[in-house]
Amino acid sequence: MSKPAGWEDEAHWVRLLGRGFTKRCPNCGGRGIYDTWFRMKDRCPTCGMRFEREEGFFVGAYLINFAVAIVLLFLLCMGFVAAKAADPDADATAFLVVGVVIGLVVPVAFYPFARTVWSAIDLGMTPLEPEEEAEAEAARSATTAGAVGPS
Ligand SMILES: [Zn+2]
Repeated sequence: MSKPAGWEDEAHWVRLLGRGFTKRCPNCGGRGIYDTWFRMKDRCPTCGMRFEREEGFFVGAYLINFAVAIVLLFLLCMGFVAAKAADPDADATAFLVVGVVIGLVVPVAFYPFARTVWSAIDLGMTPLEPEEEAEAEAARSATTAGAVGPS
């Protein structure tokens, strides 16, 4: 059976998502792409790829972050249902506390990963355009040239 176009190279997707889930540049796997936990650099310091490929690009990252929190809350609810089925007198307090913690902590903790995972998915579906590669190359050589400005 044939797979949908674009999904035939599974190793490529595994590599891309592996980079995304480990907070690395999806294009080259380079590290150090965050200045702080919340502030991503404009470009990868290793390959020069611009992360925000178009305006509003990272809205997709919010969706991923939201989805991760929702899936965890769903699993927690299923856990509560299972606990209630096993013991009708089971207390909901612990589940509520864990639910609140998931709702508050996961979006913050997963935020930078959501951005790199989204970048990886986008790069997998839309490889860099020749102009983007040229821009990345220019940014990379500007960085390696050090403090020397554009000539
Ligand atoms: Zn890179």
